[in-house]
Amino acid sequence: MKELYKGKVKTVYQSENPDEVLIGFKDKVTCGNGKNETVIPGKGAINCEISSILFEKLHRAGIKTHYIDRPEPNVMRCKKVDIIPLEVVVRNIATGSIIRETTIQEGTRFHPELIEFYLKDDSKNDPLLTPDRMNLMGYDNVLFHGSAFQINTVLKEIFNSIDIDLVDFKLEFGLHNRSIILADEISPDGCRLWKKGSMESMDKDLYRKNTGNILEAYQEILTKLKAL
Ligand code: UDP
Repeated sequence: MKELYKGKVKTVYQSENPDEVLIGFKDKVTCGNGKNETVIPGKGAINCEISSILFEKLHRAGIKTHYIDRPEPNVMRCKKVDIIPLEVVVRNIATGSIIRETTIQEGTRFHPELIEFYLKDDSKNDPLLTPDRMNLMGYDNVLFHGSAFQINTVLKEIFNSIDIDLVDFKLEFGLHNRSIILADEISPDGCRLWKKGSMESMDKDLYRKNTGNILEAYQEILTKLKAL
């Protein structure tokens, strides 16, 4: 199968259908821009299934996504999109870069949520964009903001119902037949998830900070999502 893109934890293959791709999730976790990496058998399939369940639920809530189905435990079949080079970060609770870079206290709850846009470009260190800069680059800030808001409303409710606080997460969008749809993955690798009412991580911070077993935490999230 032709490889279209090889990332740190995912590989994108051309499917037989020219309008579709297959996204393979690897059993790997990385942090520090790939400086640290560890193979965790089973992690790829768990993340793939979590991501698939979340995309299905978003679809049912009326949100357009690239997801089609999951033909193998660690493979998502998706519409082929041109990825838009923006990282859209939604924050419900302050932690991570926002507390490192500002005087905002960790744990502060944002009402409304904070929606931030970063340019996806490692060579420029993924800079934070202003709405004006975004518009000047040809990306309609209001449109992405509205879409991220809608997605957060659905995801917050899902995680709340399994006793998890959705702290923050990153989204990527893609262009498909001239419309902008949700793409990439939504898994605990790109979200911060805290046990409800606590600051206890169930996400990649367990690996970043070496404070626990990510496989157990991710499996617990998957089991709870499947029971919904
Ligand atoms: N995030 C991500 N990929 C990135 C940057 C951020 O998935 O390249 C996610 C991260 O896991 C967290 C959220 O986006 O859930 C906000 O990340 P933050 O800006 O706090 O940066 P970090 O502290 O992870 O460097």
